[in-house]
Amino acid sequence: MRAPTAGERMLIDLGISEPKEIDLEAIACCHGAFVEYEPLDGCEAMIVGDDKHAIITVNSRSGDERRRFSVAHEIGHWHLHRGRRLFCSAVDIGNPRHDVLNPERQADDFASDLILPDFMVRPRAMKIRKVTIAAVDELAGEFSASRTATLIKLARLDRFPIMLVCHDRNGLRWWSPQNRFAGWWRPSRQLDTQTYAYEMLFNDAGDPHPHKMPGDAWFDFKGADRDEVIEQSFRLPGDQILTILTLPERAVP
Ligand SMILES: [Zn+2]
Repeated sequence: MRAPTAGERMLIDLGISEPKEIDLEAIACCHGAFVEYEPLDGCEAMIVGDDKHAIITVNSRSGDERRRFSVAHEIGHWHLHRGRRLFCSAVDIGNPRHDVLNPERQADDFASDLILPDFMVRPRAMKIRKVTIAAVDELAGEFSASRTATLIKLARLDRFPIMLVCHDRNGLRWWSPQNRFAGWWRPSRQLDTQTYAYEMLFNDAGDPHPHKMPGDAWFDFKGADRDEVIEQSFRLPGDQILTILTLPERAVP
């Protein structure tokens, strides 16, 4: 088992062992940061502080899960980037497009470990046989996390051979995880017309059940048609489609 990350260590040090005990405001307070909620224009959350104390302000107009992720993201900045005055926009927080060295991504990863710590998610994931939307939503509800954040965490565990792929009308926006599968399993930039995701995005089709698809509907490499993948797509805000692809075992090196 790997060593706990900084976010997980913060929970362990406070003796927190159950999802319902993850009280982010109390955790922030223990580390000298006070959380308040106000209507914000132009940014989603901000942190202002000196070496010891900080005030985290989160946009009160956002939904519960979004506010929660924003608080955890700012606690991440407080832990990782102390002393900086940071204003985080809606695009900065919870954006899987940032690369791993980007401070916003570091704060996002910290937030993910605080809200969905591996040591609590993993034992629950072991009881999940297939990553269905219903199973993800149940887990997300227990952790007061969004469906997308929960899926990103599940995809990073080594339990399921799943890849998340997000498209909008311009093409591929992001995919995750990028380091678990053999390098040639990179999703196509443009959606293939035979995918359900394409039908949802361009022809307004309803959310489908999981479907088996030929591999070359999603991947461009030579021989992709020899494998099948399972596609399950759903809508995200902003005219985006997120697809859970279940890949064949041989995609994992
Ligand atoms: Zn930020």
